[in-house]
Amino acid sequence: MTGLTPEEEASYAETVAAAQAGRTVPLALGTPRRGKPPLHWADLDAGQRAEAIAELGLPKFRAGQLTRHLFDRLSDDPDAWTDIPKAERDLLAERFVPPLLDRVRDLSADAGTTVKTLWRLYDGSLVESVLMRYGVPGLRASGKGRERATVCISSQAGCGMACPFCATGQGGLQRNLSTAEILAQVMDAARRLRDGEVPGGPGRINNIVFMGMGEPMANYTAVLRAVRGIVAPAPEGLGISARGVTVSTVGLVPQIQRLTEEGLPVTLAVSLHAPDDELRDTLCPINTRWPVAEVVGAAHRYFEKTGRRVSIEYALIRDINDQGWRADALANLLTRYGWGWVHVNLIPLNPTPGSKWTASRREDEQEFVRRLEARGVPTTVRDTRGREIDGACGQLAATEEDRRLTPSS
Ligand code: SAH
Repeated sequence: MTGLTPEEEASYAETVAAAQAGRTVPLALGTPRRGKPPLHWADLDAGQRAEAIAELGLPKFRAGQLTRHLFDRLSDDPDAWTDIPKAERDLLAERFVPPLLDRVRDLSADAGTTVKTLWRLYDGSLVESVLMRYGVPGLRASGKGRERATVCISSQAGCGMACPFCATGQGGLQRNLSTAEILAQVMDAARRLRDGEVPGGPGRINNIVFMGMGEPMANYTAVLRAVRGIVAPAPEGLGISARGVTVSTVGLVPQIQRLTEEGLPVTLAVSLHAPDDELRDTLCPINTRWPVAEVVGAAHRYFEKTGRRVSIEYALIRDINDQGWRADALANLLTRYGWGWVHVNLIPLNPTPGSKWTASRREDEQEFVRRLEARGVPTTVRDTRGREIDGACGQLAATEEDRRLTPSS
């Protein structure tokens, strides 16, 4: 584990200062062109892997061996690949298994069952992922219900969508992550659970949510390849059910349509936050491009095609979007397409640096839920896991500002 360099500290202190000054960033649709991360085995499909092995003049079956070590055994240490001759291991590791994620720091909460990791990428970009284990017997801090584990991963360093209530959005976009950089976050979490590094004994990942930093639909190709790697059966992939994967989007309609055609039964989550264009234009600037009706229409088509119930994310912001009439408007908007295709996930607003907004009053939250349910819209209120380590929704900013907290390792 390494710390941040003084230059990195300075640059990220600047980002935090900007956010604290309430400066908001403009919407950025293009992706800044930065160098590409080094190529990794996880970036290649089966055909490209076979080709790469042939080019090196190695026996064909090395491809399968390497794949098994990386995805099935979660081992990126060539010394452990003992079924491959030493010289070939080193060659394979050097060509196809470059280090991608450098662990800067882990912060933990909830008796160790929530762990937020700050990663440094090859070019100095910082991203975060959060591992959350629930329902560990005997550990009240892990919550109720059946035992399960979720990892929340990042798809971009920063984000270009500029939502003013979200810490990531206020930091702007640095670059897209590669497929391997996305998968590496999942594989690290899977390895930790397997090795019993999270309280509750050895375990497995059940859910993967693309709800960390970035807009997954703005990095469509790499995200889709990562999803295919996650759901492919072992040893080619991680063998995690597509039903356990959630892709969350602020509403890039053309990419929602594309995902609809992929034939992958992942869960689609749409961050709506307002039922009316007037307010949504300010909360999610991308709404000026694809307004509420188009986003909800695309979400409903996703349900029709895949049969997967869509999740509508709605951060409740005090006196901004939490009025009773907005709950009614949201229910009308969704039930225009019928019942049973959608449910609403209300997220009490998590504090972010410099933001003037705060979470709704308890009674307004309850009234919002009541009105949605009265109109037949299933509604849940999301827990605020990881809030004290700035690991909850919208708090990932990949800065050193939370150094005051004690690292867990
Ligand atoms: N860009 C994607 C993925 C991010 S998911 C998307 O917008 O869906 C993160 C979720 O947390 C989104 O629903 C986002 O709108 C929400 N969020 C952002 N800031 C938040 C905050 N301060 N409090 C609560 N939720 C927030």
